Amino acid sequence: MADQSSGSTPVDKEDNWGYDLYPERRGEAAQAKWWQVALFGAGQVKTEKISCERNVYNCFQNSPLVKLMYSALKASGCEIDLRRHIACEVCDVKVSGGYDPRLNQIVICQNVARSKGMVQGILTHEMIHMFDACRHELSFKDLNHLACTEIRAANLTHCSFLSAMTQGDASFFRIQKQHAECVKNKALGSVLAVRPDVAKEEALAVIDKVFLKCYNDLEPIGRRVRRNSADMIRAYQERTNYGYE
Ligand SMILES: [Zn+2]
Repeated sequence: MADQSSGSTPVDKEDNWGYDLYPERRGEAAQAKWWQVALFGAGQVKTEKISCERNVYNCFQNSPLVKLMYSALKASGCEIDLRRHIACEVCDVKVSGGYDPRLNQIVICQNVARSKGMVQGILTHEMIHMFDACRHELSFKDLNHLACTEIRAANLTHCSFLSAMTQGDASFFRIQKQHAECVKNKALGSVLAVRPDVAKEEALAVIDKVFLKCYNDLEPIGRRVRRNSADMIRAYQERTNYGYE
């Protein structure tokens, strides 16, 4: 689901899926918005899409994490077809990517995610949501489910990168605690981005309730990946241990 928090006003619970953040999902902004044309010219938007699609393709060819997630999805009966399941679109600048459960589609925000590294991070995050949706009867309207899949996405990707950078001479237990805090904060931001109708306290309570179970569920990556380590490659090499091809 959405990757960053927003401070929007409450909206109708039933209708709100966070898609106001993804105007192209409503078929509204197929053309460049006025401000994009004013700032960059319409050609820039087209260039962004091409470069975004190139980055996506590149990740599927070269990123061990993306390839691992691809294998895991395939082994679970949810093989990804790049043209069908991944879309580069112009989004609200508050988000960098998202997963659309209605269409089982991943959105990469071409106007925000401009580097290959960023596209890799978003792809892996959203592919974890896709994997959870494939593996379980997942209802993104259920706060417990939403919190769980956001905890897993933050745990397996985003926070693991960060914790490795801040390790230094910190004690093992401090790192563990920092990592768990990072996952909670990141998950909170993601939940609130998709569900601005939910109060922060309510979201936090749900995150706390499902935290341990979802934090300890490391499938399909099997480890919390550290930055600049061999973990990514190792996880990909060990995929057959989990039955992924
Ligand atoms: Zn998410």
